[in-house]
Amino acid sequence: MFKSLAGRTVIVTGASKGIGKGIARRFAEVGCNVMVVSRNIADGEAVAAELQGHGGKIAAIGADVSTPEGAKAMAEATLAHFGAIDILCANAGIFPAAKLASMTVEEFDHVMNTNLRGTFLSVSACLPALKVSGRGRIILTSSITGPITGFPGWSHYGASKAGQLGFMRTAAIELAPSGITVNAVMPGNIFTEGLEGMGPEYIASMEASIPQRRLGSVADIANAALFFATDEAAYITGQGMVIDGGQILPESPAAIAEMDIA
Ligand code: NAP
Repeated sequence: MFKSLAGRTVIVTGASKGIGKGIARRFAEVGCNVMVVSRNIADGEAVAAELQGHGGKIAAIGADVSTPEGAKAMAEATLAHFGAIDILCANAGIFPAAKLASMTVEEFDHVMNTNLRGTFLSVSACLPALKVSGRGRIILTSSITGPITGFPGWSHYGASKAGQLGFMRTAAIELAPSGITVNAVMPGNIFTEGLEGMGPEYIASMEASIPQRRLGSVADIANAALFFATDEAAYITGQGMVIDGGQILPESPAAIAEMDIA
């Protein structure tokens, strides 16, 4: 149905774990060259080794996307290794919880610097190469948390995820003449190592609140990211796609309770 993406080069930030690893796997499976980015190079190299032989060529770099130096090193290493950057999946993100009453400036800045500043720096560093590509694709990993919903402890996180969508809309306008599209996947609760750390009670409560009664998989998100990267999605830009098993739909807990009544 879709034209092949084989041979295109994709950078996936935050690809050593979770959603990013799932995105890297999916792009590798369709024959893309994939640069796996994370701060911990050993984790990234382990993923690169795991994905070898799944299709495209894989490499890894240790880089902190919240710094200009890290983002620049990531783009330069990708160009040196693969000779192009066609697709950027700006996925790296953190979600430490802190309630407003006790949130420190450092905690706020750490989340914003990784999630929002890291998005800006990653896009900026890759922009010259994406322009050369002529069919550049930027895919941000936002969230439902912030743009649509809220959760206690995540005011800084929600602001960073909503901020990514604000960034996306203007970037999409500015980059349209260069043939670059900018879109976002907006996951609900996805089962990852990061989410696993929230504990079994949190996971069970989330499953109970989702109409499909399951957490999403990293493949659910990776498939949406892959679609945004295709030639067939060339006319879609500045859009967010919610992938959440219906999580944002119930207007009250009663809507979920009603599902169980025959
Ligand atoms: P995760 O399992 O904790 O993985 C996070 C990844 O980001 C790791 O590879 C981590 O590696 C990397 N990373 C963190 N800070 C970085 C930095 N400054 N520079 C480079 N890499 C960095 O997280 P996840 O659950 O997959 O989440 C990935 C994205 O999806 C995030 O943007 C998150 O907001 C979003 N999201 C997740 C969910 C969910 O349910 N899991 C829902 C909605 C949105 P290092 O620590 O080695 O750097």
